[in-house]
Amino acid sequence: MSEHPHVEIYTKENCPYCEKAKDLFDSKGVDYETYNVTGDEELFDEMVERADGRQTAPEVFIDDELIGGWDDTQALAESGELDEKLGIADEETGDNGTEAGPEHRRMIIAGSGIAGLTAAIYAARSNNDPLVLEGDEPGGQLTLTTDVENYPGFPEGISGPDLINQMKEQAERFGAAVRNGVIADVDDSSRPYRVELSNGDVYTADAFIAASGASARTLGIPGEDELMGYGVSTCATCDGAFFRDEEMIVVGGGDAAFEEADFLTKFADTVYLVHRREEFRAEDYWVDRLQEKVDAGDVEIIKNTEVTEIHGSVEEGVDDAELVRHPEGYPSDKLDDPETETFEMDVGAVFLAIGHTPNTDYLEDTAVEMDDAGYIKTEGGTGGGQTKTGVPGIFGAGDVVDFHYQQAVTAAGMGCKAALDADDYLETTELEAQAGATGAAASDD
Ligand SMILES: Cc1cc2nc3c(=O)[nH]c(=O)nc-3n(C[C@H](O)[C@H](O)[C@H](O)COP(=O)(O)OP(=O)(O)OC[C@H]3O[C@@H](n4cnc5c(N)ncnc54)[C@H](O)[C@@H]3O)c2cc1C
Repeated sequence: MSEHPHVEIYTKENCPYCEKAKDLFDSKGVDYETYNVTGDEELFDEMVERADGRQTAPEVFIDDELIGGWDDTQALAESGELDEKLGIADEETGDNGTEAGPEHRRMIIAGSGIAGLTAAIYAARSNNDPLVLEGDEPGGQLTLTTDVENYPGFPEGISGPDLINQMKEQAERFGAAVRNGVIADVDDSSRPYRVELSNGDVYTADAFIAASGASARTLGIPGEDELMGYGVSTCATCDGAFFRDEEMIVVGGGDAAFEEADFLTKFADTVYLVHRREEFRAEDYWVDRLQEKVDAGDVEIIKNTEVTEIHGSVEEGVDDAELVRHPEGYPSDKLDDPETETFEMDVGAVFLAIGHTPNTDYLEDTAVEMDDAGYIKTEGGTGGGQTKTGVPGIFGAGDVVDFHYQQAVTAAGMGCKAALDADDYLETTELEAQAGATGAAASDD
């Protein structure tokens, strides 16, 4: 290993982004020092001073230069500047591409969430030499949650980052390669497929599994990022049970918001469905079903209202939320209007159900079919396999396909199916190529 600059990372406890920062340097084989600021005021003050007043962890320094938090570090990694600062730019370039052309892989998997890593375990065990490209959220959505209590096999539950780290280790044990990199474009106009990353690296692949997930939309309001996983959540099925007997807000007006509000009545003292306008997008079925819960006093619907701030702490969770209301809806656009009213609600949890955005931009120039929202359409398979896209050799798995269930176990199941379907595809095309070569040789005789 070459001499690397001095890397320092200020961390705190229960901090998924601190883990991501450490994983990033681990993946580059770079040593670093960590300083845990939780419960250490002196160290915290030192971090704040060195980080120009910023009070969030992680804070990363390279040779005393402030790099910043996870987002800043990740952005530098994507542009290739991080490797330059670490003095490994040449080493990494040597990894991908030679004078003979881009590095070729039998299989490339987009995403290191639970679908991508499950696909990698199966693909590696089938000798398909998978390369997993991690995207800008290594480990996927599960790294954002502290407790996963519904993944089979863990009676006491398991933390999302632990589950993902163990799956990654398992995939690597069988020979899967997991690398940092965001796929910017896939070219399916010729074989093998050309896969280009946002940092300019190019690979080719015989088979490709899209397991790039769907990112939950958020409101972008104060308190939301800080309390995500500590009372703010984008998944009621996953986190509802942690807030038993609390007052809960669900934000949204579509089917998902109604379904989540209905589900949360199992645990909540009262569920408040907060919607920014008068009309709902949700189907009548859901509106009628929730009305029964309203009549029973379990749910209150608050229309023409938006949440504008969430207050609380990592230690104590959500304390209260600030909301604005205007009789004609969309109140946050009308803050100066005298009819806009501001009020606070004491709640223990805020669930955001304002939709997901599937991560499929990189497939836009391919013939892979997607629905209006951008989710990959899959088809075919024997005995219920649903991972083939319309483009032979390109498969989809996990939340990027399955907008209905969006659970860890279903994403893992689909990752498994995609790897098996891709293996079948690779074997079939190879047999066909061999038969073609034999036929051509016979006709030459
Ligand atoms: C807060 C929270 C708590 C949750 N808790 C639970 C729970 O308790 N139980 C449960 O069953 N489910 C839970 N879920 C849902 C679960 O996390 C998802 O269903 C699951 O993670 C989906 O897995 P996936 O692999 O399909 O996608 P993701 O986990 O979203 O992973 C997608 C991966 O693709 C990568 N990627 C994206 N774009 C690109 C690109 N251009 N190039 C390369 N890679 C790319 C990302 O970086 C990421 O690594 C929770 C979700 C959230 C948000």
